[in-house]
Amino acid sequence: MTEVIIIFLLTPVFKDYIWGGNRLKTDFGFENDLEKTAEAWVLSCHKDGENTVKGGRFDGKRLSEVLTDEMLGENGKKFDFFPILIKLIDAKNNLSLQVHPDNEYALKNEHEFGKTECWYILDCEEDAELIYGFKEDISSEEFRQSIENDTVLDKVNHVKVKKGDFFFIESGTLHAIGKGILLAEIQQNSNTTYRVYDYNRLGADGKPRPLHIDKAVDVTVCKKPTHSALPEGETEKNSDFEKTLLTSNELFKVTRFKTEKGTRLFADEKSFVSLLVLDGKGEINNKNETLNVKKGDSVFIPASSGEITVKGKLEFLETTV
Ligand code: ZN
Repeated sequence: MTEVIIIFLLTPVFKDYIWGGNRLKTDFGFENDLEKTAEAWVLSCHKDGENTVKGGRFDGKRLSEVLTDEMLGENGKKFDFFPILIKLIDAKNNLSLQVHPDNEYALKNEHEFGKTECWYILDCEEDAELIYGFKEDISSEEFRQSIENDTVLDKVNHVKVKKGDFFFIESGTLHAIGKGILLAEIQQNSNTTYRVYDYNRLGADGKPRPLHIDKAVDVTVCKKPTHSALPEGETEKNSDFEKTLLTSNELFKVTRFKTEKGTRLFADEKSFVSLLVLDGKGEINNKNETLNVKKGDSVFIPASSGEITVKGKLEFLETTV
């Protein structure tokens, strides 16, 4: 029997957090009945919102039901939970100032992974900015006092952003996405956030959303950021495609591709490959199947699938673990 290697197209999960806008509907064509679409979880096995498979013989099944260790690959199956979570985020308003714990703290206190994340800026308004670490190194005590006397926004590092910028946010880094930013986020599979400051806003229930100041002070590294707002790698160009390594670290590797006609990719035995289409349309082929894809589509390619051909004028992110 010849083995059938399957590529999964995933159905996203949407979140209507108070700061969200409508660009995921208008720009990405995602349909839903929510008044705001703050986030689309496009690769997720998280209990707070898991993808299902769209089409094919696994149509409608939850991703975690169909995944095998072999599909995750040697690196992917080492983890007790699915290792990553990928989202598209539309911040019509500022997100809260927040921090995520590292693995050690999160596994002990929250029974899930900590969260290191990264952001690739897809689009933004003219003067959009975000918060990334501190302006100067300060003590934890100074950090706590600045929260208590409402001066924390004076201590943090405000960064102007533009399309194509890339931010690596290691666990323990204080951060906030600012209003007018549309981005793709690749992160550890965790939903643990300690909120430090929420612009004195009220949540959907008319009450302030909870802050988690003690835990935030526990885990925050009160320093200036060490990473720049640039991708880690140079851009490689040829007549068919342009390829930029955004980050390669012990948790994930993310590469941005722009193709005119297409390119070839390879899914080896080490990791599955996630493709997230950011623009354009085309098709993805392996030996057995052809999948038509368009902007916003998220595709899971199992480890050991071998060579994959991508055809069309497309921009996409490739993520492996
Ligand atoms: Zn975050």
